[in-house]
Amino acid sequence: MANNEELFKKIISHAKEYGFVFPSSEIYDGLSSVYDYGQYGVELKNNIKQYWWKSMVQYHENIVGIDAAIFMHPTTWKASGHVDAFNDPMIDNKDSKKRYRADVLVEDHIAKIEEKIDKEVDKAAKRFGESFSEEQYRTTNPRVMEYAEKIAYIKTRFYGALEKGDLADVKALIEELAIVCPMSGSRNWTEVRQFNLMFSTSIGSLSEDSNTIYLRPETAQGIFVNFLNVQKSGRMKIPFGIAQIGKAFRNEIVARQFIFRMREFEQMEMQFFVRPGEEMKWYEYWKAERMRWHHSLGISPAKYRFHDHDKLAHYANAAADIEFEFAFGFKELEGIHSRTDFDLGNHQQFSGKKLQYFDTELNESYVPYVVETSIGVDRTFLAILSNAFTEEKLEDGSERVVLRIPPVLAPIKAAVLPLIKKDNLPEKAREIMDNLMGDYVCQYDEKDAIGRRYRRQDAIGTPYCITVDHQTLEDNTVTIRERDSMKQDRIAIEEISSIIANRLKTDYRPKSAL
Ligand code: ATP
Repeated sequence: MANNEELFKKIISHAKEYGFVFPSSEIYDGLSSVYDYGQYGVELKNNIKQYWWKSMVQYHENIVGIDAAIFMHPTTWKASGHVDAFNDPMIDNKDSKKRYRADVLVEDHIAKIEEKIDKEVDKAAKRFGESFSEEQYRTTNPRVMEYAEKIAYIKTRFYGALEKGDLADVKALIEELAIVCPMSGSRNWTEVRQFNLMFSTSIGSLSEDSNTIYLRPETAQGIFVNFLNVQKSGRMKIPFGIAQIGKAFRNEIVARQFIFRMREFEQMEMQFFVRPGEEMKWYEYWKAERMRWHHSLGISPAKYRFHDHDKLAHYANAAADIEFEFAFGFKELEGIHSRTDFDLGNHQQFSGKKLQYFDTELNESYVPYVVETSIGVDRTFLAILSNAFTEEKLEDGSERVVLRIPPVLAPIKAAVLPLIKKDNLPEKAREIMDNLMGDYVCQYDEKDAIGRRYRRQDAIGTPYCITVDHQTLEDNTVTIRERDSMKQDRIAIEEISSIIANRLKTDYRPKSAL
């Protein structure tokens, strides 16, 4: 773990040094859990959004996009359940004065017990060799079974207490488990309190007593309230989806781990409207499809896993996360939720407007069921960046840092570099740059020795460096250097564009046209 922490620190400082992510308003010492994206960060972020949009909207004839406002009528959040239920239980340690999410303290405690089970299993696997059956061991070994029972007990007690709103029992459990504050090591805890995560502000045009409005904590509700607008104006037939990318705001109690948990972040969400009773089929479909999407980026599939929820949110009848192995362990990257008719049903009730669909095949009207896919842009960014960051020792003994970003997402696709700053090489390189820049985000660089310029491009993940030398002036060829292998080839100038285009292709296509 110490090594991973070290690595994570390196990734954060690399992100800052090379213009990917800066702390917000840094000259004033920053603002906790708010970040700005720099010149390369914004390109990577835009490319992630584009890749998602293309796979969701462009590749699906029955999914369309919208861009709803961040501010919404306050009743939206009553209907969605956020005013009453979008809470996290928080607890403070009186000695360190640090604030924690009570659920995170308990879940971390469970994770530690799970680690103990894994260690026992690993030890036994080594001891028994070939004949080892993990399943049998897990279900018969007394010590492992004792740990598993302990986990089951904690979960039942904890989720039961939360469900009943019995916060005193949550505290009692934390005390019973002897959970200590990671900072002070003490068990000197305050009571557990509920904390609503929505930011509120006021709007001028509403009357005095009802002028509180919220910054949306998720983009989904903008889709639900527009369900009929889109369905009617687009003459959409069920099943169909509405996709949206946009900012969301949550006043997270414990904001840490860089851009993993932010107070202002961006979501890419798609709500898929289906016939009641068909939601589980579509839930399974979208679970598989979203995992294929992640795999299409060329990152090892071992870095991803599903986590089915034990405790369902107030709106869901099935839910799973796609988790990614970050430097700090497997954590949620995307959620796939079967939201039933909870949202549309509630909006119908609170607004008094019918939010139904007339199904011509069934000859009946109903409130559609919804399957949602919801992924954070920033968490995807962190997953891509962490996975890409590589420190390499080269054959000549030197070292380089290279970001092996999937080429389709790389901020800069090619750098055009005159070998030296004279003999008409810059002019020739500029000509090439002018031709490429309309199709790809490119960079021209003539400062420093060529080796240093290659390193700079490696550090921001540029897939290709194109070097113009004296031979270029004679026969219109250049060398093209590939980022990962560092292999250099001599090619004709006319070939550059198609080589880049080929490298940016991915084989992702949705499984069916739906
Ligand atoms: P967590 O359990 O980590 O708080 P969540 O289950 O509340 O996340 P959802 O409400 O399902 O998250 O939101 C969908 C996606 O939005 C998440 O999978 C994540 O990628 C992203 N997301 C949620 N909260 C944040 C945040 N504070 N900062 C960055 N991304 C976030």
